[in-house]
Amino acid sequence: MIKVDNSPEKRIFVLKKYKDNPTFIELKKEIIEHIKNKEYNKLEALNTLSYSKHISIFIFYNAIQSKINAISNNTIKNQLLQMNWFKVLVGSIEEIREIIKENYYILANVKPQIKGFTQYQNIFEDLYKNQLSGKEELKREFFNIFEDINVCPYCNRNFINPIYKENNIGNDNKKQSPDIEHFFPKSLYPFLALSISNLLPSCAFCNKIKSDVDTFIHNCISPYEIQKNDTKFKFEFDSIDTKTRKITLKQEGNIKNSEILHLDSLYTEIHSNYVNDMFSKLKKYPDVNKKFLKDKFNLSEDDYKKEFCNYFKEDDFNKHPLSKMTKDLYEHIKEYGN
Ligand SMILES: [Zn+2]
Repeated sequence: MIKVDNSPEKRIFVLKKYKDNPTFIELKKEIIEHIKNKEYNKLEALNTLSYSKHISIFIFYNAIQSKINAISNNTIKNQLLQMNWFKVLVGSIEEIREIIKENYYILANVKPQIKGFTQYQNIFEDLYKNQLSGKEELKREFFNIFEDINVCPYCNRNFINPIYKENNIGNDNKKQSPDIEHFFPKSLYPFLALSISNLLPSCAFCNKIKSDVDTFIHNCISPYEIQKNDTKFKFEFDSIDTKTRKITLKQEGNIKNSEILHLDSLYTEIHSNYVNDMFSKLKKYPDVNKKFLKDKFNLSEDDYKKEFCNYFKEDDFNKHPLSKMTKDLYEHIKEYGN
């Protein structure tokens, strides 16, 4: 699990044509300021016809407003009509959790299922398809929010960079983008289908394995909720003296990410060779003793990069596979020297 920036700047996007337009630059600034101050009521005044088709927050807002009345179950419809939709669409991940709590028994897929739930579910599924996943122009700008992320934030194993080719040969696909993962599944929480803080690029593997697990009930943490210097997740290794090292992913408290994403078994089974290779680098130092390790492994950022072929700083973990595990292993080796 790798930290992903959930700041207000990362919660809206402007369509390419208007990105460098001074009016849109100013407008975007104003919107971001309102989001920062949680002044969601002030966003309605900016939702004017001439801008609305080019800024994500208004595109999603207006599309949703035009569909709510089609919902046949009145309890669901009334609850949706009362919602603070700008907050739902661009609120932080913490605000999204609050909204789920407040609306759980009416808008989530609880058992027994509310009558008319499937129709409401289908309406939001269509909104997601028509307004984001099936709209190339929008999808491209959405992925641009994450342009500094090369590797899946859930597993930190697979690259997720989108590909856009100018030409194709025969029927090959000109565009290939990573999956858009709904952290709180849209099948269970349809109203969060277009909420930016609920959306993350992910590898197909994680998207599939996570599937429709109720991450709200099962205490799963979103990459948006990971803070700097967080100790929520840490890879641990058994002794460096043994031949085969077992990797375990330690989670704080009652967090269930590793179980839901099968991270523990993935890392233990697939990446133990990588870990053993890292330890084998120690062999090049003939006089391995604890004091030597402590001194030798107090590396500068540059030396760390050379030694482990990976990134040193937490902010760069999203650039290269296995960066988090590599750093935790490095810390482990350093600790061994103490
Ligand atoms: Zn992944």
